[in-house]
Amino acid sequence: MKILIVGGGFAGVRAALELARDATNDITLVSDKSDFQYYPTLYSSATGHSHAESWAPLGEIFAEYDNVTVYIDEISGIDAEAKTVTAVSGTVYHYATLIMAIGMVTSYFAIPGLETYSHGIKNAEQIKRLKQQLFVDIAERRELDKNYIVIGAGPTGVELAAALGTYIKRLCRYYGVKKSNVRVRLVEAAPRVLPRSSKMTSRKVMKRLKQLGVRVEVNKRVESANAKQLIVSGRPIESHTVIWTSGVTNHPFFANHPEVFRMAQNGRVEVNDYLEAAPNIYVLGDNAATPYTGLAQTALHDAVTVARNLRRKANNKKPKKYRARLPASAIPVGKRWAVIEWRWIRIYGIVGAMIRRVADLIGYMDIMPIGTSIGAWRAARVYENDYFTPTVKMKRIK
Ligand SMILES: Cc1cc2nc3c(=O)[nH]c(=O)nc-3n(C[C@H](O)[C@H](O)[C@H](O)COP(=O)(O)OP(=O)(O)OC[C@H]3O[C@@H](n4cnc5c(N)ncnc54)[C@H](O)[C@@H]3O)c2cc1C
Repeated sequence: MKILIVGGGFAGVRAALELARDATNDITLVSDKSDFQYYPTLYSSATGHSHAESWAPLGEIFAEYDNVTVYIDEISGIDAEAKTVTAVSGTVYHYATLIMAIGMVTSYFAIPGLETYSHGIKNAEQIKRLKQQLFVDIAERRELDKNYIVIGAGPTGVELAAALGTYIKRLCRYYGVKKSNVRVRLVEAAPRVLPRSSKMTSRKVMKRLKQLGVRVEVNKRVESANAKQLIVSGRPIESHTVIWTSGVTNHPFFANHPEVFRMAQNGRVEVNDYLEAAPNIYVLGDNAATPYTGLAQTALHDAVTVARNLRRKANNKKPKKYRARLPASAIPVGKRWAVIEWRWIRIYGIVGAMIRRVADLIGYMDIMPIGTSIGAWRAARVYENDYFTPTVKMKRIK
């Protein structure tokens, strides 16, 4: 079977790995980046831990598969009649079966100045920019910002805010800069942190953040940003280090092709019981309007479901209906502390942190070869003194 997969993230890579087990499948994977990105640890890579924790080359993942060809290209068009997708490079890719999994894009909710004056931690470039700014402030200008502001108290915002203070203190120690008071603030529009978790978890996490010195401000709306200030519910807060973790929206590719895709109310793509958006076109992961969309475990589950059904189809068997599965959430809040939530189960503290470590290892192994997985997993313990700037090496003081 000739299968084209677009997107080298959780869903795309997992689907390719599952389908590649059948040597008669001829799989083409097109992704706009050469690396697979393990999102759950981006907050950690952004706060000094090894790059290897969050990125793995697609070439390495598929090195042993002769029936998978990877192209680095950005898809921009689709012709469902001709069964082709086109890329910005001008290449036309043909398919018999198409799997789309191109993930989300950042949205700034049209808040004036935010796109220009905030950082993100969604990819390597954004993380590099944030680390460079911290480096320039601390190692070169030798001063701290008045406030370090993380916007959005969802899992990413909480994880990042909890780790940021420790990272900044570490930088100060490393460069011999006196740290008077590192003010990390977490701003959230909803009435509590982790609004999608239980109230009990919100309370516990709030307490933990306070212990870590994070000032949490809920029920506060970000109104605008400029080079020196963030305006929050009418009040200016002095800062040039603002990190936006809040808004994501579906990839515009789908809305740009209404002749093929129908959009659900939540902005994701409508799919049938088999995750098909149109004949022989499957939409997976964050792009699909499924009950637990927006999580890596859902993307992996979608990929396995579709791959198994394609195998059944090839063997003239009836495909099985998609059954949504509630994923567990595992959110680290500072060192050796995490919250695990699944249905009525709640685990907090060091046991939670241990479970999250195991979950990460399983997460890596779902995608990467065993050696790469162990390397990525162990990299969580490695602090990199590489702030992505060559001058750093000359500035080392110890
Ligand atoms: C900072 C952050 C932290 C997160 N933490 C967690 C967590 O702890 N646990 C959890 O379960 N979920 C987490 N998530 C959510 C999780 O990462 C996503 O649900 C998951 O990545 C979805 O997988 P996907 O394959 O649908 O999309 P992605 O993994 O985003 O993959 C999309 C792929 O498509 C490629 N692409 C995009 N546009 C094009 C194009 N035009 N042409 C070709 N290729 C393209 C991208 O480069 C990427 O490789 C987090 C998300 C973020 C942003």
